[in-house]
Amino acid sequence: MRPFLLTLLLLTLAILPLRVQAAPLVRSAPTVTRNEVHVDFPNSVTFHLELADPSAISRAVLVYSTRRFACLDVAGRVPIELSGNSLEWQWVMTRSGNPPPGAELWWQWELTLADGQTFTTPRQTMIISDDRFNWRVVSEAGIHLHWYAGEDVGPILLAAAVAGRQTLEEEMGIALQADVRFYIYGSSQEMRRAVLYIQDWAGGVAFSEYNVILIGVPPRSVADWGTRTVRHELAHLALAQFGQSCVGGRRPTWLEEGVAMVAEGAPSNRVRTDLQTAVHNDAFMPLRSLVGAFPAHDAAASLAYSQSYSVVNFLLAAYGREALQALILRLAAGEGDDEALTAVYGFNMDGLESSWRASLGLPPRQIPPTPTPLTAALIPTIAPSGLPQSVPTPPAAAALPPEVPVATPAICGLGLIPLILLAGASKRKTKSTRQPV
Ligand SMILES: [Zn+2]
Repeated sequence: MRPFLLTLLLLTLAILPLRVQAAPLVRSAPTVTRNEVHVDFPNSVTFHLELADPSAISRAVLVYSTRRFACLDVAGRVPIELSGNSLEWQWVMTRSGNPPPGAELWWQWELTLADGQTFTTPRQTMIISDDRFNWRVVSEAGIHLHWYAGEDVGPILLAAAVAGRQTLEEEMGIALQADVRFYIYGSSQEMRRAVLYIQDWAGGVAFSEYNVILIGVPPRSVADWGTRTVRHELAHLALAQFGQSCVGGRRPTWLEEGVAMVAEGAPSNRVRTDLQTAVHNDAFMPLRSLVGAFPAHDAAASLAYSQSYSVVNFLLAAYGREALQALILRLAAGEGDDEALTAVYGFNMDGLESSWRASLGLPPRQIPPTPTPLTAALIPTIAPSGLPQSVPTPPAAAALPPEVPVATPAICGLGLIPLILLAGASKRKTKSTRQPV
């Protein structure tokens, strides 16, 4: 019996390939002996596929992308020439910009045979990581915080993020749409090396499409600057998701930064001082001048943030969180600032400014018949060491590769008020923006 069964089995195995050959329309998929990706963060990702028998392959296409929360997600498709029995392609991120650590990469290969049949390998995924550091991670309430410098940095900043999330949800009704990952670098410089083409003054970056936030927080700055910045950046990310617009809608900067400043918690000494001084001297800036980028000058930038905080705080106190949510959603739907404000509150930006000023005991500002928005300079920014301020921002330079759209990070310069740290630096370039404190 046994020899008989063995013979039968061998015969079956021997015949099997013949059957496949005899039925050309039912070819089996090419045998893949290796399907790997190697990440050299943040410079490149190399895809490698090896086949047992490449002779029947007439065309191969690599399809890849990163998982994002975007209005339009287009995967890269790259035709690759066979070399021996392998296919290899390198995504050079030094040309395209790079996704942040924590982003999920997926890929698959489409292999077409000479007879036209196409086989697609199963979609593979991997989380891109920044292996230059030994990360530790703590998690709570949908927030995962990765850090490597300083013993208590992780738990302290996680607690701040959780508190910030609570403020956003309870005071403003702005909830996170998914889990968020923070990567806390030991310094702004180390953080900037994780993002190609980032402004050299950036202290933090929120990649809302990936639910990832990068911030450079020196352990000595954790208690004040670090905790405020974590809450501030989390607010930008949550706001970007809650108010996501696929029709070109945008938020005025005073609203964007005001929400982030409120999310930081109780106003800092700097904010209180700015407001007291401005009320005393009647020195606030016209609200319409805070629609675009904030002033670059340090003191003016600080006042812009503090004023934004005061205006949003006024809207929340006087009209509640539902109205604020409605405003954000109308702006996301593409309505203009005046149109959305009027629909929700019954006044436009000039009316808002007058009501807010009245709440502070100030007379209405003399508003010219034709509102003339002031031009804004780019935002300054700074590195850590002081107070945080932050600015929203349009897509920074870091982003889209020709092949795969990577990201449109919002850079908040975690600036600190003492610009000193930025050392002579300063190239504030681009249209981006930001800042923080
Ligand atoms: Zn900001």
